[in-house]
Amino acid sequence: MSEIVRTRYAPSPTGDPHVGNIRTALFAWALARATGGKFLLRIEDTDRNRLVPGSVDTIFESLRWLGIEWDEGPDVGGPHAPYVQSERLPLYRQAADDLIARGRAYRCFCTAERLDQMRAAQAAAKQPPGYDGHCREIPHAVSAERAASEPHTIRFKMRREGVTVLDDLIRGRVTFENALQDDFVALKSDGYPTYHLALIVDDTAMQITHAIRGEEWISSAPKHLQLYEALGLEPTKFAHLPLIMGPDHKKLSKRTGDTALLDYRKNGYLPEAMINFLALLGWSLDATTSIVSVDDLTRSFSLERVVPNPAVFDIDRLNFLNGHYIRQIAPHAWVSTVTRWAERTAPDDVARPLDPAMLAKAAPLLQERVARLDEIGPQAAFLFGYEAPEYEPTALVEKIGGPLNGALPILDAALAALDALPGEGWTKDAIEAAIRGMEATLGQKLRKFVSVLYVAAEGKPTGLPLFDSLELLGRERSLQRLRTARAKAEHAA
Ligand code: GLU
Repeated sequence: MSEIVRTRYAPSPTGDPHVGNIRTALFAWALARATGGKFLLRIEDTDRNRLVPGSVDTIFESLRWLGIEWDEGPDVGGPHAPYVQSERLPLYRQAADDLIARGRAYRCFCTAERLDQMRAAQAAAKQPPGYDGHCREIPHAVSAERAASEPHTIRFKMRREGVTVLDDLIRGRVTFENALQDDFVALKSDGYPTYHLALIVDDTAMQITHAIRGEEWISSAPKHLQLYEALGLEPTKFAHLPLIMGPDHKKLSKRTGDTALLDYRKNGYLPEAMINFLALLGWSLDATTSIVSVDDLTRSFSLERVVPNPAVFDIDRLNFLNGHYIRQIAPHAWVSTVTRWAERTAPDDVARPLDPAMLAKAAPLLQERVARLDEIGPQAAFLFGYEAPEYEPTALVEKIGGPLNGALPILDAALAALDALPGEGWTKDAIEAAIRGMEATLGQKLRKFVSVLYVAAEGKPTGLPLFDSLELLGRERSLQRLRTARAKAEHAA
């Protein structure tokens, strides 16, 4: 019988999960879905100093936003509950005791001061840092007696000779010199396990088959492999995902996009675009496909197609994908999206509620143009007032250059051309013909002077297409905006 794949996402609730970390969840989930396996969520809250209240809820919300649902976890339960490490302390204690009984761990009574001094001395002598084995040889009986009254940790005895070999599913064979390892803390003095011990205990108990995690953990792999061996357990398979770098080829930072996943939601990204984007940070469907749906991912994901070399987090690509998915939204759904986002992101001085008929008419124009949903409000705002949004008179000539009164002949020509259009003929096509007719009057190409009309109508030199916009604004408001622009240019000139 072939093995049932069981993967997990095991975040620490130390703040809002960032995009890089969510990529790990996505890959673990995708593998489980593609193989008909199970995906678990486990909360690793053993570092009590770093807990941030509310993080667990944000973890849930981040995953749900992307549609990553878990088969077992803290809220849904499952056969290996509880799925929160702080509720599993007796299991880690038992494993630590077992390690002592097997001669593979010992109590360490070193105080924080002693460890600090040791580290300082190592640094001064340019020696590699690491525990010096001070408590390794304390006889068992002495150690057991001291344990009753003295605070202590339990340290794992690493093998110091030979090598530890990791057969990573993504990077192949990686060999670690045991001489470079030291005896690490498995159980802390507060009774909480370290990540290392908890990982082995839980991945075993929860029958995880594949530990999929970020590459920052690869240097800890020898600790984990040795722990498995010491406890007589079969290790999981390991897959260390490639690093994510910024476009500057440095480690991804806040500046280059490593922020909370939910910030992307706030900034108007769609979950489909995020999934497509994150999926391609290390994995690919084939050599050419750049548009990958959730279905493609959950049907075809495999670790064989994850590459070990770093992936580049390119926000332009995300914007491109987001625009792509925006254009896939069905018309009626898009109108509600536009309404929601326009209400939320239009400038404060635009009166609410926004005119639903205008929103419905503007929606198709916006769908062609925005890359992010938070552009909707700023782009559509000019449609909702009688006058154009406030602008400086100089904006009128910002693109054409030259003195401000250079805008006057253009505005006069537009007023004449558009005033000649009757109300019932106020259509995009008629407006376009009238404005193109200005080329002859002005002896200038449309693209030379059109920015003046954009500013007059929309308050800025670019925006939703001019002819459509004037049609939406209607005859009276359009002419009024041209007159206002003219007055501004004249007074300021
Ligand atoms: N709690 C670890 C983290 O937050 C989990 C690493 C793992 O997946 O094993 O990164």
